[in-house]
Amino acid sequence: MQIHNAMETLRDLERDLKNMREYYESGITKEASWRESQLKRLRSFLLEKEEEILNALLQDLGKHHLEAFRDEVGTLIKSLNFALNNLKQWMSGKKAKLPKIALLTSAEIVAEPLGLVLIISSWNFPFGLSLEPLIGAIAAGNTAVLKPSELSPTCSAVLASGLYNYLDKKAIKVIQGGPAEAEQLLHQRWDKIFFTGSTRVGRIVMSSAVRYLTPVTLELGGKCPAVVDSLSSSFDREVAVKRIIVGKFGTCAGQACISIDYILVEKRFAPVLVELMKVWIKKMFGENPRELKTVARIVNKQHLFRLKNLVADPRVQESVVYGGSIDEDNLFIEPTIMVDPPLDSAIMSEEIFGPLLPVITLEKIEDSIKFINSRPKPLALYVFTKNQSLQRRMISETSSGSVTFNDAIVQYAADTLPFGGVGESGFGNYHGKFSFDTFSHEKTVVNRSFLTDFWFRFPPWNTHKYHL
Ligand code: NAD
Repeated sequence: MQIHNAMETLRDLERDLKNMREYYESGITKEASWRESQLKRLRSFLLEKEEEILNALLQDLGKHHLEAFRDEVGTLIKSLNFALNNLKQWMSGKKAKLPKIALLTSAEIVAEPLGLVLIISSWNFPFGLSLEPLIGAIAAGNTAVLKPSELSPTCSAVLASGLYNYLDKKAIKVIQGGPAEAEQLLHQRWDKIFFTGSTRVGRIVMSSAVRYLTPVTLELGGKCPAVVDSLSSSFDREVAVKRIIVGKFGTCAGQACISIDYILVEKRFAPVLVELMKVWIKKMFGENPRELKTVARIVNKQHLFRLKNLVADPRVQESVVYGGSIDEDNLFIEPTIMVDPPLDSAIMSEEIFGPLLPVITLEKIEDSIKFINSRPKPLALYVFTKNQSLQRRMISETSSGSVTFNDAIVQYAADTLPFGGVGESGFGNYHGKFSFDTFSHEKTVVNRSFLTDFWFRFPPWNTHKYHL
């Protein structure tokens, strides 16, 4: 099987997918030994090609090696180790309890692979968002086609050659390309489509899935709020601000689906928060961040102009209190803070996905609940507070993919937690065992003895049986 640098002809694609189905039907990918060896080989790819991967991330996104290792290579090795340590247990069926009336009957739930699955990923974490679902697909015993993003081409090429060289070519295939290639793939029959990207394209994916009633997982985006309570101790304030700054500007320059999109804060505390944020932006990125190589770049000119347009609105311009400079040639936008840009401006209605941070002031911190509920359900909600009553209210009165108190982004790295959205931020989830489940069918298996039965379950029906 070839590595596909350009889209194959439709016939070639259909032939390859047919071969992959036949390979799946041979049963090889269902064997525990195959799954384990593929996961180990994927780990070898990450370990042996680490430098190439980090350089590709620097080339496509300007991600510093340490940030790239933290968010992609390191996180993936952790996920692979977790899957390898738990694979046998995930694969073993779960015994199920039955009511007492089911005499001499046993039951279990068996995880069955789905078959041939399609993974479409986005460019901001090109390795993480491609390989994290692939780990689940392999662990669950599927064959898989991966379509990484055309906007991080160096990373996509490293993925394509890496998976071709390290994994079973008959079972795992990378197809590079953009929307046209993705649409071509979506016309084919799949047993599962796992999509990471925008809500707009998520709708296209879901409508394509209708044709074959293909199950989908949609990992989408949106605006993730951070509610910052007026923390009383200076220690807590500093910890909170450091976590906010790294969660926004130190994670692919805010180009992450779970980046803090905007902050909600009480009017009286806002000036203190903004001053602290300015201090910590300088401490983390320097007085002149443009000179530094530690802030990721905007992925391309189109996205840079999209972000530039968000601040071009004169009402938004007026609200800028820090940063604001844009270097088009170097695809760089300085970490920027604005206070109270109008709520009807584009920056407060579209997902920002970049290093621009609006701070919205409220009379009371509790007003944030109403504010959040008046907008689409976010993928992540962050609340910096020690107030337990506010914490409980946030959990019970708002809806989001996840709620994290007193930090940001960290929920992504936990293998024991489901990662996914709700409402417009998507549905379905993955990571750890949840990835395995996402690519499995939970099959009910019931096993009856021939020895016992209840005579009244069989016709002929008569009143005697009815009045039992
Ligand atoms: P995108 O939707 O533009 O692209 C995602 C993928 O879909 C790419 O592989 C692309 O080639 C493909 N695609 C584009 N147009 C298509 C079409 N018409 N038909 C079929 N496929 C098509 O998103 P993006 O720019 O890569 O990523 C940014 C968005 O993704 C943001 O909204 C972000 O919040 C979201 N995101 C979500 C997560 C998550 O885990 N929930 C992670 C990263 C990004």
